[in-house]
Amino acid sequence: MDCIFCKIISGEIPSSKVYEDGDVCAFRDLNPQMPTHILVVPKLHIESAADITPDNSRCVAAVFEAVPVIAAAEGLRNGFRIITNCGPDACQSVRHLHFHLLGGGQMSESMK
Ligand code: AMP
Ligand code: ZN
Repeated sequence: MDCIFCKIISGEIPSSKVYEDGDVCAFRDLNPQMPTHILVVPKLHIESAADITPDNSRCVAAVFEAVPVIAAAEGLRNGFRIITNCGPDACQSVRHLHFHLLGGGQMSESMK
């Protein structure tokens, strides 16, 4: 499958990995929008949040179990934001479900 995040997960494409377990891989975004900008990605290829089902949702729980571990390791004691873009209206550019973990500074109240 020609999926850049599957290739990062397999190690075929290099990345700056900060966390990995059996279900989850997290690496630094190439184009960071905050001092800390990490992509937290289920290893299972799911195209977007629109494709989460009872059969695959376990990996989403695994992502959110990893988030506090990563946030603590990154020193995000003052908070963080998690965003997932889904589809063209949200400007999703990589069609493998991923969660942007943003922190390390004050963010705006706007989420659009
Ligand atoms: P989205 O627009 O929500 O689909 O987010 C995709 C994100 O992946 C963007 O923030 C890109 O900067 C990031 N990205 C694309 N390719 C890579 C890569 N090879 N390594 C790390 N981040 C990447
Ligand atoms: Zn993939």
